[in-house]
Parts: sequence; structure tokens; C-alpha cells
Amino acid sequence: MESTKEVIIIGGGVIGLACAHYLIERGARVRIIEKDKIGDGASHGNCGLLYFSDIIPMCSPGAVGHEIYRTLCGTSPLYIKPTLDLGLLTWLLKFAAKCRPHTMHRTIAEKSTILHYSIDLFEQLLALEDLGCDFEKKGILTICNDPKNLDSLKKKNALLEPYGMSYKLFERDRILEMEPALKPGIAGGWYSEIDWHLRPDLLMASWRKQLTKKGLIIEEHAQVLDFEIHGNTITKVNTIRGKFAADAFVMATGAWTSGTVKQLGLNLPVQPGKGYSITMERPGICPQMPCVLYEKSMVVTPWKSGYRLGGTMEFSGFSTTLNPKRLAKLIDGASQYMKDPTGHPVIEEWTGLRPMTYDDMPIIDRSPSQENLVIATGHGMLGLTLATGTGKIVADMVYDKTPDIDISPFGISRFR
Ligand SMILES: Cc1cc2nc3c(=O)[nH]c(=O)nc-3n(C[C@H](O)[C@H](O)[C@H](O)COP(=O)(O)OP(=O)(O)OC[C@H]3O[C@@H](n4cnc5c(N)ncnc54)[C@H](O)[C@@H]3O)c2cc1C
Repeated sequence: MESTKEVIIIGGGVIGLACAHYLIERGARVRIIEKDKIGDGASHGNCGLLYFSDIIPMCSPGAVGHEIYRTLCGTSPLYIKPTLDLGLLTWLLKFAAKCRPHTMHRTIAEKSTILHYSIDLFEQLLALEDLGCDFEKKGILTICNDPKNLDSLKKKNALLEPYGMSYKLFERDRILEMEPALKPGIAGGWYSEIDWHLRPDLLMASWRKQLTKKGLIIEEHAQVLDFEIHGNTITKVNTIRGKFAADAFVMATGAWTSGTVKQLGLNLPVQPGKGYSITMERPGICPQMPCVLYEKSMVVTPWKSGYRLGGTMEFSGFSTTLNPKRLAKLIDGASQYMKDPTGHPVIEEWTGLRPMTYDDMPIIDRSPSQENLVIATGHGMLGLTLATGTGKIVADMVYDKTPDIDISPFGISRFR
């Protein structure tokens, strides 16, 4: 326990809660200010994978050509709304420019440190009592329907090996033995032992409860509108429910961050990457472990308490309207791999906005213009997986401690 600091965290997603956890551990008095309800953003209906082995960035060589090809074939999970939005167009061009071997190798090395760090911290976190979230350490299967893709995954595996995250290739019969819920027609798959899974909505609910018992104050339906600034420090945030003062501030506003930091003079390239999921009761023949359906870029996640299909990536602004075609694609995709692809009844059809950076790396840094503000966003497809590592780094930064890992790759200066 260190000196008491008053800290306001803006944004009550998994990143906000993780920051609160490690700040409270250090002795801070923490208040989360959330525009909707805690855990209602991207952290609610995601696929629940602690996908530590997912170190290859989206911006890898060939990614653009591959998606253009899949778009032409009508099989791409990606959709980009035709737009004149300069921010998005610049973001897409910068993404394309990052798809180079040298950049990919550097990103893999840099991402692996925070992924390994997050594994150790999740190990400690999930050992705590009262954090019920259907957590299981069963690994993840990546399933291919086309034998050619089993080979192309070999190349991916070679990239994972140096970081202790490599997969095991299994023939069809072995995979079907491990996962009898798969259709016999699959070509085979890769097993990654290092990955875990949990139910994100349960995690958010139980973590909130646990932190509230430890003193966390929560202000919901309190959108932050602007800031009161004195010199180079923020003194107060103005919300639709009044003003709140603190010694330090953390911006964990996910996909909305570009807008929230603009009035602080910061220009951060975070775009909303819309994804979908359908949550159901467990089907009659329910898988025992999560399966990534390779050709469909989607995930099937089973829990003791339910079953979820999730995926797709749309760059179409901040709308959270449910597109029935996208939802149908998830069911169609699952039916090509699973014997019993849907459970009944459907509990929830959902869409959420991932905070995407064009280099597929999170932003964890102190604001260059306000010294008592730390920004934690841009976690893209891995916000749940990276939550513990991020939370611990943020708590260290707020308390002016040197973080345990090198955080320079997550700095804001890379965008200048
Ligand atoms: C379909 C899908 C599947 C996914 N699967 C996985 C997975 O298996 N594993 C994984 O690791 N990740 C996964 N992700 C990604 C993961 O969900 C996100 O990276 C993560 O939830 C981001 O957390 P966050 O706290 O930054 O954002 P959010 O959870 O979106 O939280 C940000 C919060 O800030 C609030 N906010 C914004 N502006 C303001 C304001 N002005 N004032 C007050 N509050 C504000 C918002 O209301 C929101 O609640 C998936 C995402 C999707 C969409």
C-alpha cells in the first residue's frame, strides 16, 4: 500500500476495471466515470478468449491483398463502408503501409512481452475468490476446412516458436477425438495449449462487485464532456452529471478515445472496428473448448453457462445497429464446421466496437500535454487478453514507478 491518490478512470470497460484493480491494490481511491453502464461496451459480448498466442498483427504482409480477394469472393469477414471520412481513409492507408515483414517481426516481438506479462497477472487475478467467470484453461483449436490452409498455418507457427507460443498440428482424426462436436469433414487443425477462455460479461460483473467491496466508486450514465485544466494538469472532468475532481486521470474510453482526447489537443488514430456475437444456450452437441474457424475468421466459445459465436470486422463508424446479414454469416460459418452449430434459445444478439489502431498495438502512455493523465486504449482484438498487463502498467505510471516491462512500443510518439 502506498500513499492515497484520488484517481478518476474515464471508461468502464475491461481496461478501466483492470486499471482500477491495480490502482486500488496500490492504495488509490478510484472512481470510474462511465457514459453508459459498466461493461456495456466492447467488453460485454466479445469471444472471451485469453488469446495469448495471437501475436501476429492484423497488419501483416499480404493482409490487404488477401482481404481484397476474399471481399471479391464474398467470403471476407471484413466490411469497410464507402466513406469520405478523412480519419478513416488515413487510418486505412497507414494500416496498408504497416503490412511489411520488418514491421510485422518487430510488432510480434514487442507484443509478446505484454502478452507474457498479462499471462502471469491473469494467473494471479483468476486465483482470487469471488471472480466467477466460467474461466477454463483448455487451450484453443484453430480448425481448417481446406487442407491447403493447414500448410499455410505452418508459416504462422514458425513465427510463434521463438516466443514459446507455438501450436501443435493435428490430423483430422486426432482433432475429432479432442473435439467430437466438429463435423467429420474438417481437414484438421492446430492446437494452442497456452490460451485460456472465460465469459466476459460474467468477469465484468464479478470484478465490478469485488472492486466495489474494496472501495471503487462508480458513476454510470455520466458521459465526460470536457476537462478543466490548470497549467499542464487536469483538475476536473465535467460530465452530464456534474464535475469530479482528482489528482490523476486515466482515459480508458476504448473505441471513443479519438473524440475524447481531441479537446486535450491530442490526435490519436483509434477507429471503431465493429464486431458481432450471438449468445445462446449450449447446443446439444457442444464443443469442449473454443474453436477458431480459420476460413471464416470467427470463433465458437463454449462455457458452462452458455455458448457464443463471434467475429466479423466492420469499419463503418460508431453505429451499433445490428445487421441481420452479419449475424446470419456467423451461423452459416459455424454450420460449416460444427455438428450442432446453434443452441436454443438465443440469449443475445450483440455488436461492439473494438478500439483499433493501424499498427495493431495498444496505446499506453502519459499524455504529452497533461502530466496527470495516462491513456490506455487501442487494444483492438485483444483488449480482454491484455487487460491485466495494461492495468498494472497504468497503476505503475500513475504512481511514477517504472513499469516491469518496456512500454516504449505503446507510446503516443509513434504516431507523430
Ligand atoms: C466480436 C468481438 C470479439 C472479441 N473477442 C475478443 C477475445 O476473444 N479476446 C480479447 O482479448 N478481445 C476480444 N475482443 C476485443 C475486446 O472486446 C476489446 O479490445 C476490449 O473490450 C476493449 O476494452 P476497453 O475497455 O478498451 O473498451 P470498452 O469495453 O468499449 O470500454 C470503453 C468504455 O468507455 C466508455 N466511454 C467512452 N467515452 C466516454 C465518455 N466520454 N465518458 C464516459 N465514458 C465513456 C464507453 O461507454 C465504454 O463503456 C473482441 C471484440 C469484439 C467486438
